[in-house]
Amino acid sequence: MVSRVIPVDPFDLVIFGITGDLARRKILPGLFHRALVGQLPEGARVIGSARSDMEQSEFQDMVRNSLLEFAPGTAADTDALNAFLDKLSYVRVDATGGGGWSELAKLLRPDVIRAFYLSVSPSLFGPIAASLNTHGIATPQSRIVVEKPFGHDLETARSLNAELRRNFDEHQIYRIDHYLGKETVQNLMALRFANSLWEPLWNATHIDHVQITVAESIGVGGRGDYYDRSGAMRDMVQNHLMQLLCLTAMEPPSKLSPNAVRDEKVKVIEALEPVAQDDIVRGQYRQAAGNDSYVDHVGNPDSRTESFVAMKVNIGNWRWAGTPFYLRTGKKLRARCSEIVVMFRDPPHMIFPKLEGRRGNALIIRLQPDEGITLRTTIKEPGPGGLRLAEVTLDMTFADALSDGAEAQDAYERLIMDVIRGDQTLFMRGDEVEAAWEWADPLIAGWAEAHQRPHPYDAGGSGPEDALMLLHRDGRRWREMDRADRKDIP
Ligand code: NAP
Repeated sequence: MVSRVIPVDPFDLVIFGITGDLARRKILPGLFHRALVGQLPEGARVIGSARSDMEQSEFQDMVRNSLLEFAPGTAADTDALNAFLDKLSYVRVDATGGGGWSELAKLLRPDVIRAFYLSVSPSLFGPIAASLNTHGIATPQSRIVVEKPFGHDLETARSLNAELRRNFDEHQIYRIDHYLGKETVQNLMALRFANSLWEPLWNATHIDHVQITVAESIGVGGRGDYYDRSGAMRDMVQNHLMQLLCLTAMEPPSKLSPNAVRDEKVKVIEALEPVAQDDIVRGQYRQAAGNDSYVDHVGNPDSRTESFVAMKVNIGNWRWAGTPFYLRTGKKLRARCSEIVVMFRDPPHMIFPKLEGRRGNALIIRLQPDEGITLRTTIKEPGPGGLRLAEVTLDMTFADALSDGAEAQDAYERLIMDVIRGDQTLFMRGDEVEAAWEWADPLIAGWAEAHQRPHPYDAGGSGPEDALMLLHRDGRRWREMDRADRKDIP
């Protein structure tokens, strides 16, 4: 299947923090890929900015090296690479008062879309938004993109929202959660709302429970300092897992408009019931199988920060009453695996002999690795010898089904193009972020007050024993996160 590429209108995209990790690893390769597939128009310009002094040739070298490192396959096309570099320029701006704003203003054209991507520390979001305004660089049509984390708690998120809104209207603010740019996450919406098949079953009558897992095999990497002040709850649950939960649980929006979709997501967050401390398991990885422990890694022997969290969440509304959502995320786990598992209830009356080890009907939406969708279903075991049951899967891996791999998009490139198109559907609205913090804050405060230590788990394992018990005590079990342990994925 060949996907269509619709060029966007001419634009000036200013990327603050162009020399940083995110810009070099994701944003620049993403833009280059969009150029390669022909989505960037003649009038597309990218202006990189940071505090360092750089000549245009040095800047181009930095970009070229970044692309060779992070997009090696594509950057080998030197003509395309040079054409892309011609679209780029650099301006030195110090967001904390060192100047550079008038030079930036001179580079911008009056009659094209203006977007400002703040790929810098969140402490600079407010100062940059204010400077763009006071220097007359932001126009009423400009867009501002801010990275995660959006606040550390409700109070900081509110003050960040207020700071941004002093200088930009809500319709100009694009808060990134790159999970929303993933192909499968959007496919969840298509699956639910473009088919009549699922909607009659998408409720507590037919769905026993939902599991949302975002497991990482890597540790905290070079972000130890930041992570130790955040933990899995702030870093993953409040944003990424919450977004996945919302898209799975929300009511069908009346139309595919940014506010119609985001209104429905906010309603889900507001319907979340308080989570009992008994329904949450926090974990921290310890040394095992040649891996350092979390505390060694972050250099804080007394750290009580969780590198793993699992919880049972109930949504108090008509659709989901009695159907729990189990969330689980962690670092240094046995596999990298992000997926949503929708487990259907058993038939009310079974006429067949019991199938040993039967796991039941499940719809599995895989975000990574191997983005795709699997439906586990029960059939008759082939061959003679009576009617025995077997479980098989109907499987769609996007890389196979949408075979035009050259046009596969990374989440970042999709989201940047949405910014240029002015489509906020896949970005978080201010009230949505605040609602998620309002839900998360009391849970975090609860275990801080109790001076709770996270449960230890082996690096490279499946998380703390208690996380398994969270489902076992309800007569359920987690789906294995390691592909090698699963029989239902080819
Ligand atoms: P980083 O590697 O530390 O880069 C920061 C960038 O900001 C550099 O280009 C730096 O260049 C520039 N900068 C620092 N102080 C500045 C100032 N006063 N004025 C202007 N520019 C300044 O950070 P990063 O990892 O790319 O992260 C950027 C943002 O994305 C952060 O909000 C982070 O939380 C978020 N994020 C990152 C990732 C990731 O994978 N890296 C993932 C999700 C979210 P100079 O020092 O030369 O000025």
